[in-house]
Amino acid sequence: MADRLSSPQDPIERPRDHCGLFGVYGHSNAAMLTYYGLYALQHRGQESAGIVSAKSDGEPLQRHVGMGLVSQVFDDASLREMRGDRCIGHVRYSTTGASHLENAQPILVDCGRGKIAVGHNGNLVNANVLRDELERGGAIFQTSADSEVLLHLMTPPREEGQKESALRRALGRLRGAFSLLIMGEKEIIGVRDPFGFRPLSLGRLDGAYVLASETTAFDLIHATFIRDVKPGEIVIINRDGLHSVQMDTPKGREAFCVFEYVYFARPDSVLEGRAVTEVRRELGRQLARECPADADVVVPVPDSGNYAAQGFSEHSRIPQEFAFVRNHYIGRTFLQPTQLIRDFNVRVKLNLIPSAVAGKRVVVVDDSIVRGTTARARVVNLREAGAKEVHIRVSCPPHRHPCHYGIDFPTSGELIANNHSSEEIKTYLGADSIGYLSLEGMFRATGHPASKFCAACYTGEYPVPFEADLDKFVMQKRRVARASLGDEVLELDRQKLL
Ligand code: SF4
Repeated sequence: MADRLSSPQDPIERPRDHCGLFGVYGHSNAAMLTYYGLYALQHRGQESAGIVSAKSDGEPLQRHVGMGLVSQVFDDASLREMRGDRCIGHVRYSTTGASHLENAQPILVDCGRGKIAVGHNGNLVNANVLRDELERGGAIFQTSADSEVLLHLMTPPREEGQKESALRRALGRLRGAFSLLIMGEKEIIGVRDPFGFRPLSLGRLDGAYVLASETTAFDLIHATFIRDVKPGEIVIINRDGLHSVQMDTPKGREAFCVFEYVYFARPDSVLEGRAVTEVRRELGRQLARECPADADVVVPVPDSGNYAAQGFSEHSRIPQEFAFVRNHYIGRTFLQPTQLIRDFNVRVKLNLIPSAVAGKRVVVVDDSIVRGTTARARVVNLREAGAKEVHIRVSCPPHRHPCHYGIDFPTSGELIANNHSSEEIKTYLGADSIGYLSLEGMFRATGHPASKFCAACYTGEYPVPFEADLDKFVMQKRRVARASLGDEVLELDRQKLL
């Protein structure tokens, strides 16, 4: 168990963020506002960033994208170049497609309908099947990202009719998770899939409309939050104002990602009407009710465990101590993965203050345990620092299944809770006790009914069917399969997913 679980080959020790979207319509400083909006959403993707802008109606769209952080991709000169009153922007972590510049978003194409750009947050579970169909029809793709299929679906060469109906028809073919920003030559459009997996909010600033993945982006630019875009809603903003229509797809149940509350979203955002900080505190209080511990000090795993630890401390009346200090200024380390280096990696990210825990019974509050290797190293650190007892408490249920809707998890076999009991995990971590929040307790803490959420990574009940081998490199794999096995082999998947 130890060897397999401590494999250094897969670097996914925590689930990775997905993507962030920000758009502006009708503001003379649109590019600068989009830059700041993306800055606030940097936690949702750090691999690449991009902005598409338009000077005025009918003018060609301009695109600037690059690899790296928002502050590395843009500078004064590039932002000055992007004059105009509307923009859409994107920060990316690749949940489908490799981490290359060609996959940076927004993707921009020039077609019979003029220039169209799209930025996507989420994961399309049938993108490979759609792409296969489009490629057979002669479409040429410029990226390996799932998002590009939407552009091809919207722009068939002989398609007649209105843009809006073409868009609704195209959206109706997508399956999976998608919050989108689309920009044409006269408008920007915000879309949220019928399940509402990923957030998207609408705001106003100086008479302009703004759209963002999280409300924290509005705070930074002093925009006023108006409302969330509804599941299945298409919001079209142009010189006539804002026009809302529903997607043609029949409305199913909601499936908002509950893990946005637990871990992904910034604590200063408001999601679905609830402040993330308050939900996280309540997760901690509920955890203390369900899994109390006889201890002297509550220690959060920063930063995402901070508010749950606060709630645990409040309810249990055990004082909280910030014994772990996070280093915010490290990138990836590319040294050989020896035991010494793995230990270094853990310590450089999160250093421990020994005096805060020496001689004490410690409750460590974390928001998730994925593979368990980092959590185990932390227990070792605590014991070396003189902690008398170490009790692990997790502010959500065990993660037993991967996500297919835009969050990068390890495979099922690598998730420690997939095939090990809590008792086995406790032993592997070297802890004195372990306690996970129940599914019901997690839903209760959000203040919303369970029926609002996707919780598939806990339960294995996926709201939208997906292919058995779906992962972030599925597009590349599919091309190889088609080349070597022939088209008929893929027919089964087509019938299942289209
Ligand atoms: S599977 Fe988990 S991480 Fe993925 S959308 Fe559902 S709740 Fe969120």
